[in-house]
Amino acid sequence: MNKTISILGSTGSIGTQSLTVCRKMGYSVLALTAHSNWKLLQEQVRQFHPRYAVLTDPQAAAQLKAAVADTDTTVLVGMEGVLEVAQNPQQDTVINALMGVAGLRPTVAAIQAGNNVALANKETLVAGGKLVTDLVREKGVLLTPIDSEHSAIFQCLQGNDPDSVRRLIITASGGPFYGKTQKELAGIKKEQALRHPNWTMGAKITIDSSTLMNKGLEFIEAMWLFSMPPEKIDIVVHPQSIIHSMVEYNDGSVMAQMGAPDMMIPIQYALTWPHRYESPAKRLDLLSCGELTFKKPDTETFTCLADCIEAAKRGGLYPCVVNGANEEAVSLFLQDRIGYLDLFAAVRGALDRFDLGDYSSVDEVLDADRRAREYVRQRFADR
Ligand code: NDP
Ligand code: MG
Repeated sequence: MNKTISILGSTGSIGTQSLTVCRKMGYSVLALTAHSNWKLLQEQVRQFHPRYAVLTDPQAAAQLKAAVADTDTTVLVGMEGVLEVAQNPQQDTVINALMGVAGLRPTVAAIQAGNNVALANKETLVAGGKLVTDLVREKGVLLTPIDSEHSAIFQCLQGNDPDSVRRLIITASGGPFYGKTQKELAGIKKEQALRHPNWTMGAKITIDSSTLMNKGLEFIEAMWLFSMPPEKIDIVVHPQSIIHSMVEYNDGSVMAQMGAPDMMIPIQYALTWPHRYESPAKRLDLLSCGELTFKKPDTETFTCLADCIEAAKRGGLYPCVVNGANEEAVSLFLQDRIGYLDLFAAVRGALDRFDLGDYSSVDEVLDADRRAREYVRQRFADR
């Protein structure tokens, strides 16, 4: 079936793989957006002929505009441009593959306009999950997960009564530093943290995977996507990343979704659900997988995970501030302006520092996010 799709964040890791899926499925592309990578966006414009291309960085947008002047693509600038394409009614699904809380407004705009959203941008749900999921119900749109663990859970839930779920079991690779102590983590440099054992991803999520913050964000993401209380979600370390997550039912049955670690599978399923089609993804070869093992996560060393679960239990704006503090800390770490252990301290600090209530608007969420970032910059940067 032909579909029309927009990809927010088309130059990133998920964005480029989404384009591969769109090409394979024969989908039309309405709009592509990125922040400043105009060169890659130019190539994508020439290959996929979108009606719109958006860059949030004005200088890069001016360069793109000159570079694609000979095409039929209209170049838009800034977050207003991203919101405009997210709201365009002439499409089936908006893929949100933006990085960070910057994805929140576009997700809300797309849903408000009645568009389906395939969501990779987990920070949207961590910071503003209540707003987003209420809006999804109100507008009757589809919100399908791209994150591999959540796609796995979504797949394991098909055809089953949601009331018979006993718990969700999210798997974690454990990251490159599983088994290390806090002392051993102290001198870690970004080059080491940027090497993930099983997945090739954008820089921010790769750092988050190394601290287990990513698993904490995914815990909160799962609560919102599947309307689950924190008590019914468990995390288990599974270093091979073959089982992408599981659902345990009240009769003792545990459903698991398996596959080669290839994001093309969850991206495609988020667009084709409930149907399945041939995919360019790697195939799972069980005999070459070897053993599948499971261990407990070490939340005493990787405190971010425990802190996210605590934020989830406190509710309201707490998940938003731990996410905002982490985003700022990761950005500072990638600029060599803070140490590796500061990533953990920033998240914990934000949780201790703020006395927060609930929220009912995007502005309140983004204001709490801004305060958390300010706190991290003041307390940790360039000491
Ligand atoms: P990348 O950093 O590779 O890509 C991010 C994309 O968003 C790029 O197109 C970038 O443009 C654009 N972008 C970044 N910041 C902004 C901003 N402030 N405003 C507008 N556009 C912006 O990220 P990933 O693809 O790795 O991840 C995207 C999302 O998907 C994240 O939320 C991540 O957690 C989630 N995810 C990723 C997985 C993966 O395998 N990579 C797996 C599961 C979830 P430019 O290139 O110009 O900077
Ligand atoms: Mg994931």
